[in-house]
Amino acid sequence: MNQDDMLRLFEDSGALLRGHFKLTSGKHSDVYYEKFTLLKQPATCTRICEAMADIFRDSGVQTVVGPTTGGIIIAYDVARYLGVESIYAEPGEDGRVFKRGFSLEKGRKVVIVDDVLTTGRSIFEVIDLVESYEADIVGISEMLDRSNGTVKFDYPFKALTTVAADAWEPDDCPLCKKGEPITQRGSRRF
Ligand SMILES: [Zn+2]
Repeated sequence: MNQDDMLRLFEDSGALLRGHFKLTSGKHSDVYYEKFTLLKQPATCTRICEAMADIFRDSGVQTVVGPTTGGIIIAYDVARYLGVESIYAEPGEDGRVFKRGFSLEKGRKVVIVDDVLTTGRSIFEVIDLVESYEADIVGISEMLDRSNGTVKFDYPFKALTTVAADAWEPDDCPLCKKGEPITQRGSRRF
């Protein structure tokens, strides 16, 4: 699957919406990604995870790590395709932590995966966690990159698809200026 096929998959799943949205941050945007609309559809989700697994097929990866919550599902399915283990990183008091007996030995080859890249915060937290075990991060992948190229990692990174998405403070929102009503989620698609 190329980028366009992948984008179509996101659109057809109903997870990628175009309109006039109020984000959790309070900013307004022309794109909204409802990740669990996709993650609740295993048949579609697994096709994306297979493509993600293909990126790392020859990397010698031993463990796939994802941050809660969507990252649990993705890490599990990517690891299934690769025939390796998957673990997940949960919020701790200061950044992310492994619980449930999860651990990484020094030098273990790790891939970090998640669903959507916006600020990269959860991925940066997982990087800190994995580095604290002195494991070897061979790559990072996201299903969808909506960061507009603003997030940079010190490790190889690949998103399966990217979508141009602007976000504005409400006072600067061009859609508000045009008088467009806030879109009720799920009512419009690309
Ligand atoms: Zn607006």
